[in-house]
Order: sequence, then C-alpha cells, then structure tokens
Amino acid sequence: MRQSKLFTKTRKEAPADEVAKNAQLLIRAGYISKEMAGVYAYLPLGLRVQEKIKQIVREEMNAIDGQELIMTALQKKELWESTGRWDDSVVDVWFKSTLKAGGEVGFGWSHEEPIGEMMKNYITSYKDLPISVYQFQTKLRNEMRAKSGIMRGREFIMKDMYSFCADEASHMAYYEATKPAYMKVFERLGIGGDTFVTFAAGGAFTKFSHEFQTICVAGEDVTFINREKGIAINEEVLTEETLTTLQITRDELTKVTTAEVGNIFNFGQQKATDLGLTFKNNEGEDTPVWMGSYGIGVTRLMGVLVEKFADDKGIVWPASVAPFAVHLVVLNTDDADVTDYAEGIHASFKDKGVEVLFDDRDARAGEKFADSDLLGMPYRVVVSKKLKESGQFEVVTRATGEVRMLTEEELFADFTKE
Ligand code: ATP
Ligand code: MG
Repeated sequence: MRQSKLFTKTRKEAPADEVAKNAQLLIRAGYISKEMAGVYAYLPLGLRVQEKIKQIVREEMNAIDGQELIMTALQKKELWESTGRWDDSVVDVWFKSTLKAGGEVGFGWSHEEPIGEMMKNYITSYKDLPISVYQFQTKLRNEMRAKSGIMRGREFIMKDMYSFCADEASHMAYYEATKPAYMKVFERLGIGGDTFVTFAAGGAFTKFSHEFQTICVAGEDVTFINREKGIAINEEVLTEETLTTLQITRDELTKVTTAEVGNIFNFGQQKATDLGLTFKNNEGEDTPVWMGSYGIGVTRLMGVLVEKFADDKGIVWPASVAPFAVHLVVLNTDDADVTDYAEGIHASFKDKGVEVLFDDRDARAGEKFADSDLLGMPYRVVVSKKLKESGQFEVVTRATGEVRMLTEEELFADFTKE
C-alpha cells in the first residue's frame, strides 16, 4: 500500500479528552478514529491489525473443532426474561430499544441465551453432540467507565465461543482443551510469557471461572501470581479458602496489574436447564446439555499490545499482527533515479509476497522517520540517493532500534526466509 494514497494522516496530538495511551497512539497514527467515549472506528491500518488478531484466534478455535458463525446484534426481550437476565438490576450494561411495530429489543452484550435458544433447533439426540461454535461479534455494552481507550469500549469486538456436550467428562475435557488453545493465541501475539490462566469468580455451577490475565499497567484488574508454580489468582477471589484450596501462601504470590484478555466459564447443566435446551440420552431421557462459554477480547487485545510494546516514539507491533511487515521509506524523492529504484524494490517485495507499506510521499527525512516510528511496523527499509550509490539498504528493527546495512540480495533473502 502506498502511503501517498492512504487517506489517514499522522497527527501530533490526540483529542484532549482521550486519556488512554493505547487510544492516543492509535488515533495519532491513524489506526482508529474516536466517535465518542468508548466508541471507536477502525481505519484501514487498524482494521488490518484487527483482522490479523481475529485470524490467529480463528485458527486456534478451528483447531479445537470450533465452527464459526455469526449471531444477530438485535435480541429478543422474552428470551432474556426467561433466564432472568433482562432486568437492568441483574445485567447493568444493557442497551435497549423499542420496535415501531411494538415491543422491546436488546442490543447484544452477550450471546449465551440466543445461541442456546438457536441450538434447540439442532440438538435433539446425544448423537448431535459435542458441538462448539464461535463468532466474532461487535458487542454493545452500556459501560459506566470508558476511560481505557479500546481496552474498554461501549462497542467492541469479542470472540465468543460456546460448547455443548452430552456428559460431564466430554464437557470438562473440552473446557480444559480451551486453556492451551487460548495460550497459543497469546503466545502468537507475543504476550504468552506475561499471560496467566487465573482463578476468578465462578458462577452458579462452579467455585471458580478462569480468566486470562496479561500483565499490563493500563489494565483494570489486580492479580496475584506465582510464575514457578504457574498459579494466578484474581484479587476478587483471594481469600484464605482459595489459598488453602490451591495450596499456596500469600507470601509466595506477587501482586501485579493486569488486563483480562479472555475468560472461560463452565455452566455445567445450569444454563441449558434455564433455557430448556435438552437432548435425548441413549436411554431416551431428556437431559440438559452441558455448556461452557469462552471469550477473548479482540479489540482489548489490540489495546494491550499497544500499551505493552509502545515506546516514547510510538507503536511497536509484534510481527504476527503488524498491518505490514515492512515499512519501505524512500528519501530524496526529487531524484527520479532514486524513486524509480525504490519503485522496483516495492514491486519486488510485493512479488515475493511480503506485505509492504511504501512511504512514497514527498516529505522530509525527519518527518518520514518520525511517522514510521509512530506507525510501528516491525522493520523499516530505507532507500536514498546515498544508499543507492553504495548498493545498500538501511534496515531498522523497530523493537530494538538495531540498524543493519544489507545488499539487495541479503535484503530479499532476509525477508523471504520463513
Ligand atoms: P470485564 O471484567 O473486563 O468487564 P467481562 O468479565 O465482562 O470483562 P466477558 O463479558 O466475559 O468479560 O467478555 C469476554 C472478554 O471480552 C473479556 O475477557 C475481555 O477481554 C473482553 N471485554 C469485556 N468487556 C469489554 C469491553 N467493554 N471492551 C473491550 N473488551 C471487553
Ligand atoms: Mg471479568
């Protein structure tokens, strides 16, 4: 993609009312645009990052037999009433509206009820199970606090997955299988070492749920961790009883600030009992389905990556989600020989399947480099009159600042090796 054609421009300042570092940087770099507090549009560069995060999540959910679908944003009042969750005093994040034709609708803040209800059409016998379905949905939540940029939106993208099993053993096996699948996602995003499967508040059916908490100063959670023992406990459930159950003492735990990037819930047969979602077991008896739900905050993750890896010059993307692998920056654009040469390098990168953002703009070197640092592609490749004469390219690794001088042959060998 040519930067000269990209409609977004970098900005020196973020909106005065934007207090979160992630949103400030993403707005300044042109990845997102702020509509209002907690509501952000994703622009071409931001959408590329979002899609890459989704693709990683998609691959790992497919690997554990998840089937992708998409539910609706408008939801039925009667359905949520049937499980006792329509009331604002029970669920405090509802956006609701009225239909002109009469009646009320809710805007999807979660999809357990609609998915469970829909599954009644497809689950009749134990032979239909197990099933796991997931979606990437824009959730709408009337959050009280929206000061964390894209880490807490009133409109945000979540991957939510739901499992349906015939018995406790297959249900628990699936629940357990989601933990390594989730960890693979976080490893691929470069935050595996700082992300912990964390004991958190359970529900009607279980003592604990599990959250995936990533160390992040901008996070809203407090987690107590012990890396050696692989134990992490959300402050909310840090009680004597929890410590005894997990056979650990308070002294062995370190307090850290974290962001919840995902969570998994075991509903047992409770949710299906509430919904009336049953199947006939092999004796022909109606049995409530065993259900679990599994969330990942896609847009929150994008914010966490910015918060964790950015430096004083701007964003630093992990290679796995960067909008482009290479930022090709040409200087001395008043010299046709130089620009022709850079065009050739751009074409070669594209031929070789390397994703390139090509800064072909007629601007000063200082401005181009500052923009490049702000945008945060993993590698910057510089072409200039002087470099052309010496037959070399300057390659800068964004994360470390390491500078290498490579010949054309070395350059392409380097970027096509994987
Ligand atoms: P939190 O405790 O942060 O409010 P939650 O427990 O309500 O989140 P879920 O409803 O289970 O979370 O959502 C699943 C995942 O979606 C969370 O783990 C988080 O990563 C993400 N998420 C939740 N709320 C938001 C939000 N308002 N903005 C962005 N991401 C969110
Ligand atoms: Mg939570």
